[in-house]
Amino acid sequence: MSERSFLYVANWKMKMLHAQAQQFCTQHHNALVEVASVPGTVLAICPSFTEIPLLVQAFASTAVAIGAQDCGPAKTGAYTGQVSAQSLKEIGCSFCIVGHSERRQHCGETDEIVAHKLQAVLEVGLTPIVCIGETEQERDAGRTMKILDQQLAPVTAAMRAANPAKTVWIAYEPVWAIGTGVTPSEAQLKEAFAGIRRLLKQVGVAERCRFMYGGSVNASNASQLRCEAAIEGFLIGGASVDFQELKKVVSSSCTGSVPA
Ligand code: PEP
Repeated sequence: MSERSFLYVANWKMKMLHAQAQQFCTQHHNALVEVASVPGTVLAICPSFTEIPLLVQAFASTAVAIGAQDCGPAKTGAYTGQVSAQSLKEIGCSFCIVGHSERRQHCGETDEIVAHKLQAVLEVGLTPIVCIGETEQERDAGRTMKILDQQLAPVTAAMRAANPAKTVWIAYEPVWAIGTGVTPSEAQLKEAFAGIRRLLKQVGVAERCRFMYGGSVNASNASQLRCEAAIEGFLIGGASVDFQELKKVVSSSCTGSVPA
């Protein structure tokens, strides 16, 4: 992807059953390909693991990229229920999300586990999207930057030990904005992204990172969010399973023109 492209990542979470994913791909195939082909735009869809082959096949040889929502931290071995980064690569993924707050919250993923996953993703050559973000309680207690620092420390250590050629996407996703319809203020975004960049710069990895925002991105707030210069991509949850909404997010915020 070119240095200046804006990345839209659809995180379908666990919201699409097989028949729904099939219908989405069939019904919107051409329109999705058109959206993904808008100059300066990269579109990736991250479905459930089970739907990855369906999407890879549906969008083979098109500009629509496919990613995974998670991977196991180990290369191979006795890890029942886990899926390795290598397996994801072999079936056609190009992106992999790690450290989503829903996994931190519901699956007990620690910052160290997230860093191991990042390492696994980098080792096989997938493009990682590392999610970080504070809870409402942490923000209210004035601990936002401390939490981001804590989450980034093992991540940056893993980056320094890994392939320096690979871009790492850092997705700032304040937990209080995910699925709530709440959009952070311009000042909150500026402060968070500047702080994240400063932390990455201190350990010499800022130049290897690109930055995206996630948290209730929708057709109404996308253009306003796009004005924040630090933001080079969106991680889109709820709005991404509704094709018309996803298309509006892209058309209202991209610099190219999306076909009607
Ligand atoms: C997400 O899943 O990363 C996300 C940001 O979800 P939503 O857009 O629904 O808030």
